[in-house]
Amino acid sequence: MISEASIIDILNQQRDFFQTGETQSLSFRISQLKLLQQLIKENETAICQALKADLNKPEFEACFSEILLVFKELEFCIKNLKNWIKPQKTRILWQLLPASTKIYPEPLGVVLIIGTWNYPFQLVIAPLIGAIAAGNCTIIKPSEIAPNTSSLIAKLISKYFQPEYIKVIEGGVETSQKLLAEKFDHIFFTGGTAVAKIVMAAAAKHLTPVTLELGGKNPCIVDTDIHVQHTARRITWGKFFNNGQTCLAPDYLLVNSKIKEKLLAEIKKCIQEFYSDNPAISSDYGRIINQKQFDRITNLLNSSKIIFGGETNREQLYIAPTLVENISFAEPIMQEEIFGPILSIIEYTDISEAIALINSQPKPLALYLFSHNKNLQQRVLQTTSSGAVCLNETVMHIGVSSLPFGGVGDSGIGSYHGKFSFDTFSHYKSVLSNPFWLDLKWRYAPYTKGKLSFLKRMLGYY
Ligand code: NAD
Repeated sequence: MISEASIIDILNQQRDFFQTGETQSLSFRISQLKLLQQLIKENETAICQALKADLNKPEFEACFSEILLVFKELEFCIKNLKNWIKPQKTRILWQLLPASTKIYPEPLGVVLIIGTWNYPFQLVIAPLIGAIAAGNCTIIKPSEIAPNTSSLIAKLISKYFQPEYIKVIEGGVETSQKLLAEKFDHIFFTGGTAVAKIVMAAAAKHLTPVTLELGGKNPCIVDTDIHVQHTARRITWGKFFNNGQTCLAPDYLLVNSKIKEKLLAEIKKCIQEFYSDNPAISSDYGRIINQKQFDRITNLLNSSKIIFGGETNREQLYIAPTLVENISFAEPIMQEEIFGPILSIIEYTDISEAIALINSQPKPLALYLFSHNKNLQQRVLQTTSSGAVCLNETVMHIGVSSLPFGGVGDSGIGSYHGKFSFDTFSHYKSVLSNPFWLDLKWRYAPYTKGKLSFLKRMLGYY
């Protein structure tokens, strides 16, 4: 395990390199983003293999959610960075003329990115794009729970980047805590709410700003006014992609009782269509990350009424796509984020019940609503709060670089992707510049009679 002295040494090297100003030029930033693109292109197979070893991730899912998503983010960033880094002129009160004002984005310095294990490549590389774009030096701590991906990231980053610019420090909780004891200029953390509190407390000691990308229980409301087959497909896909280990996966369905049976029949059909009658032998169905998570998820099944699936195999870390119903919020499965291939189903008769239920819980990372009804869409948008909403869709908003990705309340602080990543790792510095040719005396002492009333008149106070 890395020593405290080595961490301080790396940090000092990065601080010195940052001070040279080399990370700040547009050409340097673009060249490093292109290098990251090259790293991904040249090592696509190795990345997919590591994800297969850690999560039995099907190649399609690995490529779609970890490689292509990051690749599109890189393209978007490279295309737009020139505009993002330009100082922006702002309007100024005429009373302050001839001064002028601008906003300069500047890098923060040395930043720390701590990742988690469910999308172990994407969740550290996507924020890294923002850190590079904004002109920072970066230390990355990937998740030890996905060891193959963690060691591959360490190997590749050290091959393509200088350690005084980007460095990966591998390790578990203790390493993470050693890193958190040091002062960074920003900490970007992805993981669970409990650890986020530890991260934020450690950051507070140094007044370090944090971005916290967390999870929660994402509700999925299904109204009667829907295309049943498309609804079922989109829910099944969003839920069982990566074996349900997705922070954005629908956690529980709130389904109108009038459509429940029809929808459930269609979801069962979709599961069979996607993963065959025996998902255990489907090459398109992933696995739970480890036995600890397997035990946690299967324990949740103990108090649930299984209506579909439910087969498990601890040795193979297999949990079948499972539907459970008649769940009340008092049961364990509704007390924590499921984060596995179980979809719980609650029915409602009136939408106000569903909204009240959602609002009685911590604010989720995403909320999904399936309904053609525009009034209902507006009502749900206006009366609930969540990191994001998809109407008649699940999860797909993560792939849109023009949308901020992040939570609210218990599901997180701050956001990233596209320009929002650049903003997260930048400080927007206000700059006022006044020429010498005019210097009115109204603001200077002595505050002789009439100066105050002149000021009030000038600022429109009277
Ligand atoms: P975790 O919170 O246990 O670990 C995340 C990171 O924190 C790891 O790198 C780990 O080494 C470190 N860590 C763990 N314990 C620590 C401690 N005591 N002190 C300091 N560092 C510590 O990961 P997890 O909870 O298993 O991750 C799953 C959670 O992450 C879920 O809630 C999921 O919804 C959420 N998540 C959110 C997003 C998002 O983008 N919002 C993405 C993926 C996962």
